[in-house]
Amino acid sequence: MANSKHPANKTQTRLLQGHEASGSFRSLSSAVERASTVVFPDVAALRQRDWRDETQYAYGLSGTPTTRRLARKIAMLESGEHCLLLPSGLAAISLTMLSLLKTGDHVLLPENAYEPAIEFAKFLQSQYGIGLDFYDPLDIASVQFTPATRLLWVETPGSVSMEVADLPALNRLAKAHGALVAVDATWAASIAMRPLELGADISIQALTKYQSGGSDVLMGSIVTRDKQLHQRLALTHMQSGTGVSPEDCNIVLRSLPHYKLRYDAQDISARKIASWLQQQPAIAAVLHPSLAGAPGHDIWQRDFSAAASLFSIVFQPQISQAAIDHFVDQLQLFHIGFSWGGSHSLALPYDMSNTRKSWPYEGGLVRLYIGLEDTDDLIADLEQALNGLLT
Ligand SMILES: *Cc1c(COP(=O)(O)O)cnc(C)c1O
Repeated sequence: MANSKHPANKTQTRLLQGHEASGSFRSLSSAVERASTVVFPDVAALRQRDWRDETQYAYGLSGTPTTRRLARKIAMLESGEHCLLLPSGLAAISLTMLSLLKTGDHVLLPENAYEPAIEFAKFLQSQYGIGLDFYDPLDIASVQFTPATRLLWVETPGSVSMEVADLPALNRLAKAHGALVAVDATWAASIAMRPLELGADISIQALTKYQSGGSDVLMGSIVTRDKQLHQRLALTHMQSGTGVSPEDCNIVLRSLPHYKLRYDAQDISARKIASWLQQQPAIAAVLHPSLAGAPGHDIWQRDFSAAASLFSIVFQPQISQAAIDHFVDQLQLFHIGFSWGGSHSLALPYDMSNTRKSWPYEGGLVRLYIGLEDTDDLIADLEQALNGLLT
C-alpha cells in the first residue's frame, strides 16, 4: 500500500492510502493515540531524544501517531514536505510571524488580510518594534520593500473583499529582496491553488474550514518545503506549547476523504447563486473571483482551478445598513455566524469602511458562505429576503 508503488496516483486517491496495520487487526480507520506522557524504554533512549526527529515521540505536546498522520496528509495536499499543526488558523498565522520576525525587522501585509492577522502584526509592531506596512493586493507597485523586510504576507483571495493577488509576481519580487513569502490560502483549501507550487515559502490553512467540514473543530496548519525553515517554525511551535488534540486531528482525518467532493459541489452551487445575484437590482456587485470583472479575475483564471463557496455581495448605495441587516435577519436557510467550511450556509454583514484605502463601493457588504443545502432552495431564500429592499 506504500505510495511509492503508485507514483501516478492522484491526490484524491493518495488521501485514502497509507493505513498502518497493527498486528492482525486491519481496519480502514485510524486509531486515536492520546498521550501527555510518552514512555521511553530506558534512560539511554530518553537521553537520545531529538525534537527535530519526526520519527521519534517524546511528549504528547510535540506529537502522537495521530497528529503526525494528519500532518503528513496536509503536507501532501499542499505539495509540501513539512507540516506543523496548531490549535487554530489564527495560531498558525501568529506563530509564523512570531517565528520569522524580530525587533528591527519589517513585514508587509495586504490591506485586505484576515483582520486578526492585521491585529497581530500591529501587536508585534507596538510591543516588539517590528516595522509594518500595507500594500494594495491588486497593485504590485504598492509593495514597498525596505532593507529590513523579512516577510511578505499574502492572502489570496482576500478575506471578505475577495481580491485575487498575483502570487507568482509577489514571489519573484520577494525573492529579489531576500524576503520570505507566507500565504494564507484557506479559501483555496489546497484544492483550487497550492501556494508552494507557485513559489511561496510557506502555506497556511485554517483547517477549521473545509478540511474539518463540520463547524466543530478549530485547527491550523503551516506547510513548507525547506527543512531549515520548517525547523525555525517548529522550534517556536515547541517552545510556545501550541500542540493539537489527537481527537480533533481524528475528526479532520475522517473528513478529509470527502472534503474535495464537498468543495467541488459547493463551488458549482455558489457559482450558480453568484450569477443569479448578479441579475438582482438590489445588488451593485458580486465579488466572486470566477465572475468576469471581479477584482483579480484574470489571475484567478490563470492560477486557480476551482473556487471556494465563499463570496461577498455589495448592495446598491441607497440601501441602508438597517435594511441590509434586515435582509440578513430575513434569511431562513443562511445562519448568522463567523467561520465557514461546514455543511450549513452562512451570511454575515461586514463594515468595509476601514479596510482598503481604495475600496470602490459605497453600499454595504454581506459575505455569503454556500453550504450543502439545495441550490434552488438557497436562491428562493435569497429572493424572499431581497424582496422589497428597493421599494
Ligand atoms: C477562518 C480563517 C482564519 C482563522 O482560522 P481560525 O481557525 O478560525 O482561527 C484565517 N484566515 C482565513 C482566510 C480564514 O478564513
